[in-house]
Amino acid sequence: MEHKSKQTFRHTYIPLTSSTSGMGIEVKEDIYVLNTQIVNVTLAGLPNQDNFVLIDAGMPKADDEIIEAVNKRFGEGSMPKAIILTHGHFDHVGALEELLDKWDVPVYAHELEIPYLTGQKNYPEPDYKAEGGLVPDIARFFPNHGIDLGNKVQPLPADGSVPEMPGWRWIHTPGHTPGHISLYREEDGFLIAGDAFVGVKQESLYKVLTQKQEISGPPRYFTTDWKAAKDSVIRLNQLNPNFAVTGHGLPLLEEYLKKELNILASNFDEMAIPKHSIYKEEE
Ligand SMILES: [Zn+2]
Ligand SMILES: [Zn+2]
Repeated sequence: MEHKSKQTFRHTYIPLTSSTSGMGIEVKEDIYVLNTQIVNVTLAGLPNQDNFVLIDAGMPKADDEIIEAVNKRFGEGSMPKAIILTHGHFDHVGALEELLDKWDVPVYAHELEIPYLTGQKNYPEPDYKAEGGLVPDIARFFPNHGIDLGNKVQPLPADGSVPEMPGWRWIHTPGHTPGHISLYREEDGFLIAGDAFVGVKQESLYKVLTQKQEISGPPRYFTTDWKAAKDSVIRLNQLNPNFAVTGHGLPLLEEYLKKELNILASNFDEMAIPKHSIYKEEE
């Protein structure tokens, strides 16, 4: 019973807020990024049209903030056609249950992520050994349990298409979690990368709170398969994207993105993989 009652973030509050919390950025005319505390959610669709998708669901307790942004951008009382999850970590599904109380919309995730979203599996515990600043110390207290959406979540189509997002395809980018995905639009080279790589060094509390822009590998404290994580970054770099929105930090654009993502992909071992980790065999 105890285990079961834990499969929710309805009563979770994480007292951690960055300088850009509550800030929204229109990266392109149909892509709007909202920062909730320390994590981004993305709204894909043209403003004032009732045809948009929410990507990820923010921190616990962020539902009011997300709904407010949706009402402002798409009109009072509008709701997305679907919610797509890059993965199921608490900071990406935190407000999902409350949103689904108000919005009767389908949720999609990679089939390997579904067990964490249907109460069957918990994520491994945060990597308290991963060095580099204060967030890993705090991350010790980050919840790693899954949630139980029951039949409200379904697997993404096997053909790579993204429901309600024509022109986009999903790419399996495991490593940070087994069923982590990124979304890519070929037409303008737009990448929604989730936590495959991020735009702020997530291990530094100072940088997280100030949102200093700095490309970085996946957040260390929750990444368990570093070999897969590296392959995922290499694959995303090969797309040579023009724009990237990631789970954490400011959007990364054009020359800066191309240069920095290439550096990260070529130097992943040194730049991304922690020297100490509970998920790495120590030499
Ligand atoms: Zn994550
Ligand atoms: Zn995250």
